[in-house]
Amino acid sequence: MPELSEQNITYLPGVGPKKAEILKKELNVVSWEDIIYYFPYKYIDRSKIFKIREVNGTMPYIQLKGKIRNYEILGEGHARRLIAGFYDDTGSIELVWFRNIRQIQNMYKIGTEYILFGKPTIFGHKINIAHPELETEDKFFHGEVGVQGQYRTSEKMKNAFLHSRAIQRIIISVLEHIKTPLTETLSREIIRKANVINLDEAIRNIHFPQTPNLLRKAQYRLKFEELFYLQLHILRVTKYREKRLGGLLFSKVGNYFNSFYHRNLPFELTDAQKRVVKEIRADMNNGRQMNRLLQGDVGSGKTMVALLTMLIALDNGFQAALMAPTEILAMQHYETIRELLDGLGIEIALLTGSTRKKVREKLLPAVKDGKIQILIGTHALIENTVSFCNLGLVTIDEQHRFGVAQRAKLWGKNTIPPHILVMTATPIPRTLAMTLYGDLDVSVIDKLPPGRKPVKTIHVYSAKRANLYEFVRKQLQQGCQVYIVYPLIEESETMDLKNLTEGFETTKEIFSEYSVCMIHGKMKPAEKEAEMQKFVSGETQIMVATTVIEVGVNVPKASVMIIENAERFGLSQLHQLRGRVGRGADQSFCILLTNYELSENTRRRIEIMTETNDGFLIAEEDLKLRGPGDIDGTQQSGIAFNLKIADLSHDGQILSLARDMAQEILNDDPLLQKPENTVLNQQLNKINRSRQMGWFMIS
Ligand code: ADP
Ligand code: MG
Repeated sequence: MPELSEQNITYLPGVGPKKAEILKKELNVVSWEDIIYYFPYKYIDRSKIFKIREVNGTMPYIQLKGKIRNYEILGEGHARRLIAGFYDDTGSIELVWFRNIRQIQNMYKIGTEYILFGKPTIFGHKINIAHPELETEDKFFHGEVGVQGQYRTSEKMKNAFLHSRAIQRIIISVLEHIKTPLTETLSREIIRKANVINLDEAIRNIHFPQTPNLLRKAQYRLKFEELFYLQLHILRVTKYREKRLGGLLFSKVGNYFNSFYHRNLPFELTDAQKRVVKEIRADMNNGRQMNRLLQGDVGSGKTMVALLTMLIALDNGFQAALMAPTEILAMQHYETIRELLDGLGIEIALLTGSTRKKVREKLLPAVKDGKIQILIGTHALIENTVSFCNLGLVTIDEQHRFGVAQRAKLWGKNTIPPHILVMTATPIPRTLAMTLYGDLDVSVIDKLPPGRKPVKTIHVYSAKRANLYEFVRKQLQQGCQVYIVYPLIEESETMDLKNLTEGFETTKEIFSEYSVCMIHGKMKPAEKEAEMQKFVSGETQIMVATTVIEVGVNVPKASVMIIENAERFGLSQLHQLRGRVGRGADQSFCILLTNYELSENTRRRIEIMTETNDGFLIAEEDLKLRGPGDIDGTQQSGIAFNLKIADLSHDGQILSLARDMAQEILNDDPLLQKPENTVLNQQLNKINRSRQMGWFMIS
């Protein structure tokens, strides 16, 4: 029998070229192997058949048994629909189809008894079921009455009658054709140690669970396998790189570091900062290239750690670069660092997209011949025109906006790749960090500098904003500054900009005795900076802004933040925004304005925000609420991989186990050459070749 991956699904009963084409386009499913690895996304108990009388609008997918009484076509254009009356001995209910109107009428006969499968919804005052699946009872296969897998299908697939049940049928015929057990994809040792069931049993039970217990075991086995190979891949790449790439040796801590530390340091480092600096020092002095992720909540003092790290690079005769995601942030880093290093005789420069050509023409040669020791900027730093004399360290602030590809580009900036420190205030939950950045070591600043009062977060309905303004006025009278933040997303940009400028006008009216400035992403960098500067210097007391202020900006007197339409922001984003206040000695406030009508999910987000200031907790919750694919930056950063069955927000324990076992195997057999590991090596190569997972991105 040929390999499953070489057998095409086209020739299976009920498929054919047209459906095969759609399956390929929509699901990337071509072979027998592909389709049996297309797993159900949920399971439904098909043993229960409801009576129409029992149906209400809050039920999930249910089954009914009854007959179609009549058909009727209503509406025009988009609203054109087919309505069927469906009845059993307890009542009747409407079925609705918006597509395939003619085929449906031919397919489902009036007066024939069908088992109906669908989701009741309330429409107007009636309950109906849109696009149900109907099947005569004799079409049910053996075993199809218990727990049933449901398969995700797209609009296009549904239009071609490739609904969940059709997928199931295809899988049934594949599994029936496969006479011998599926070839095992894990080694015997792993199966034993992880205590998982074999592949054949797992695949058959994931589609057609014999018992709930076997379904759980099947899920566990397949999740474990997926995460195991992902970890094996990441760890193998890391080991390979460690061997291949030497690192610069920063053995000294010299004058720059010491004079700064003893003369210029404006405060005592927190214990967490000290520990992290030690970790970094050790890392840069072990002969390997450092790839370290520094996580620390907003305001935890990452900049100081970055600065100290840069000074070590300088002490060893190397240049250092600091890259920030926005011009404002780059500028602020530049100002802060220049001030901190005052009197030490260190050459610092700023390079961003808006650096004038004349300035650039002078600057670039000075970077190239090493005169500039610290270069701060945006991703203008990684352009090809920028070359360094001896770049030893790159620090990237707010990593989630930079992709792996950009990180890799930095390595090319020196013959021996520079050490890399990436800093993020979006605490990436452990499970996700291990998976995305399996190749990075992680340091955590887990304590804020002393004397900070936690920000008080309050939820206020927009309708009650009058009281809020009173409160804000009092704060302003005490000399505080205020941020008012509006959402702005590309999809509704025009509308959002209008809201923002209206908000700006109203704010000026309401607080007419104060000065107000405005800043948004559509402004020219110079304008933005000018407005920002007004706020930083205290010339204006209120800033109306979009999320451009999200990252890094530091104004200690700003102690009130009002977030308009807070329901439109994600959790991490809200937390990031909130980090802009609470930087001074005063009690700070973050006020979340929303409408009355909130979805369950939004309510939870707001609740979490008012309950905690702990960024890690918030990140974990965010992951749970949104799922990992959505987390800030993972999509933009190009670290795309599709997990078929494992779920990073829930399968942390399986991930840890998978990682430990992968590590153990590689420690013992780094190249997977031992006979007992042949199957692992083959499978890993196969996965990498298929590229389906997009794992090739992670390296
Ligand atoms: P983030 O980690 O969000 O980048 P910053 O580096 O901007 O935080 O630091 C926030 C503020 O805390 C800055 O004003 C900084 O000067 C101050 N800070 C940093 N470390 C300490 C410390 N050890 N003690 C007191 N203040 C500190
Ligand atoms: Mg910062």
